[in-house]
Amino acid sequence: MSTVKISDTGIEVNKNGFGALPIQRISADEAVGLLRRAYDGGITYFDTARAYSDSETKLGMAFEGMREKIYIATKCFASDTEGFWNQLRKSLAELRTDYVDFYQFHNPERAYEPGDCTGMYEAALEAKRQGLIRHIGFTNHRLAVAKLALESGLYEIIQYPVSFLSSEAELDFVRDAGEKNITIIGMKSLAGGLITNARAAYGFASRFPNLLPIWGVQRAGELEEFLEYVKNPPELDEALLREIEEDKAQLGGDFCRGCGYCLPCPAGIDIPTCARMSLLLRRAPNAWYLSEEWAENMGKIEACVACGHCAQCCPYSLDTPALLRANLADYRNFKR
Ligand code: SF4
Ligand code: SF4
Repeated sequence: MSTVKISDTGIEVNKNGFGALPIQRISADEAVGLLRRAYDGGITYFDTARAYSDSETKLGMAFEGMREKIYIATKCFASDTEGFWNQLRKSLAELRTDYVDFYQFHNPERAYEPGDCTGMYEAALEAKRQGLIRHIGFTNHRLAVAKLALESGLYEIIQYPVSFLSSEAELDFVRDAGEKNITIIGMKSLAGGLITNARAAYGFASRFPNLLPIWGVQRAGELEEFLEYVKNPPELDEALLREIEEDKAQLGGDFCRGCGYCLPCPAGIDIPTCARMSLLLRRAPNAWYLSEEWAENMGKIEACVACGHCAQCCPYSLDTPALLRANLADYRNFKR
């Protein structure tokens, strides 16, 4: 079984974390069943967030009474200390626990540090002193900010999107963290659903000893596939490397990850889907996207008022309006 030692915390988990964002979309019964099956299959690291609606609640329901057998990572999106304490109290209540193993700042603009006048890092230290959290973590979608967090030496884990579509600069960041003995929690290991070859995604992650990928699953079939990798980790052999190269050729370059940080759009455009339409049409069953409803959704791109909000907020520095226009043209051609 492949395992990851999480930084110098003394915690070791198998190299499969459970990303609990998608369980928002399924019923409480289904979510509890999925979470317990994950635990029975050997997963002990569960990552959620205060921002994921009822995800924490479902985790609390699933693991009440067996708290010490799992590790819970959650996230706080507050930008002031009052919000920090309110969110921490709410998370503890929803998770039905009196401590969080890894408490992460959720994609802030900056890497908080003591004395920066926000009081955020001091609040985390105080929560740690009170035993409410055990380790302080940080998540970000911007490489420059994630690097600052790493360089500060203040964070015990850093969560960042990592997949075989990551750039060399991003992979160097993972390697640099490894040299500092910091574990990177790999979000979006399937690139927001665009990578459909889970075997290749897992094989790629196995190259980085300090990378703990968290897989966002909401269906039993997807979970079983990852559980199988706990027992039999796929080897990154030549055939798998070839599959990765083929996928990279199809997906590489400036593609939308579907993270949604550019929302809301004043023109009502569903940017995370519309900006990926060309890829979705070719990489997934596409009947749904060829419906009248989706033709209408795509048509909203013509109503873009060029406010610039999406491009400013995109952590991947995409020219989002241009990407949307290109996707609309391709969509109309594809439908003909
Ligand atoms: S630039 Fe266009 S697509 Fe982007 S947020 Fe503004 S209206 Fe929406
Ligand atoms: S355009 Fe950028 S911010 Fe918006 S969903 Fe895509 S990757 Fe995320």
